[in-house]
Amino acid sequence: MREENTAVTHPFLDLAPMGAAQFASIEDRVARLLDTRQDVVIMQGEALLPLEGAIRGTAGPGTTALNVITGPYGQTFGDWLRDCGATVIDLAVPFHTAVTATQIREALAEHPEIDFVSLVHAEAATGNTNPVAEIGEVVRAHGALFYLDAVASIGAEPVLPDAWGVDLCVIGAQKAMGGPAGVSAVSVSERAWTRMAANPHAPRRSYLSLLDWKTRWIDGGRRALLHAPAQLEMLALDACLARIEAEGLDSVMARHASAAAATRAGAAALDGGLEPYVYEAHEAAPVATTLRTPAGVTASELVARALAADPSLPLAAGGGALAKEMVRVNHYGADATPETVRRCLAALGSALTELSRSR
Ligand SMILES: *Cc1c(COP(=O)(O)O)cnc(C)c1O
Repeated sequence: MREENTAVTHPFLDLAPMGAAQFASIEDRVARLLDTRQDVVIMQGEALLPLEGAIRGTAGPGTTALNVITGPYGQTFGDWLRDCGATVIDLAVPFHTAVTATQIREALAEHPEIDFVSLVHAEAATGNTNPVAEIGEVVRAHGALFYLDAVASIGAEPVLPDAWGVDLCVIGAQKAMGGPAGVSAVSVSERAWTRMAANPHAPRRSYLSLLDWKTRWIDGGRRALLHAPAQLEMLALDACLARIEAEGLDSVMARHASAAAATRAGAAALDGGLEPYVYEAHEAAPVATTLRTPAGVTASELVARALAADPSLPLAAGGGALAKEMVRVNHYGADATPETVRRCLAALGSALTELSRSR
């Protein structure tokens, strides 16, 4: 009998370890995607890792933060900031709109002591997007540090930390980039590094620490990694960046914009009608479209029916209380296509008809 080789080869296994040079080249690729000359740190965890690390690194008892809430993530950032001992001024707007640069300017004028502004660019959970370029001008004129969650915007619409004066810009690959969820990146300005270095409360020798990456990785010329990287996720991130470069970032963004426009128009035209949740089209995020169910139709029921017909569709009901009235069409990444939008709209249309018959 022939001897069986028990060490079966597998594409995920027995990979050569990822070295510092390859890791650094992936960081450089992220920097090109963001068109930034700032330092880019790739962190070995989901985007919540740099989102939390950047707040804990820069905020402390001496910080006064303007925390803009346009969806669920803004609420989380406010909790972290308070936990750091910062004084937090929340600026909340209804989730069906965006915040305006004027609202930010007024808040800064009312509280001149604000030295930190946190903002979510686009919110996949609520389907809105904020005018970061205009807001960036206002924040820079005031001199506050500008922290931006661009996880749901990168790949779907322009994200330009240098042009917009963003000091800490966090991205993840799992939405419009069509990549992995397990690693994420943040661009860090010189001002943000200075703030962190002067912050006695900034995490050090910690998985949350950006300063560790600064002192032990960047300042050492990116020659020695802090620990073994999440190799599969890093390879997947590199592959998704290569794929975006090959398609062209503008084309990727155009696919998302078309998918959003088609979803918005098509949903309103369905029999029974699904109105856009975000009233103004320019405030609607290209990454995902949120829709409002008509009176008497529960969004979670509608979505369950549509998914029963085709479980592969990128449909979800809103989270928490929004599950009653909000349908989310997550047309991002590989789903940012006319075909996926058409299938989503067809399934939602059939589900609407069934539900109205059964009533
Ligand atoms: C999706 C998203 C994240 C990352 O959260 P996951 O639920 O883990 O994908 C962070 N911020 C925003 C604004 C997001 O939309």
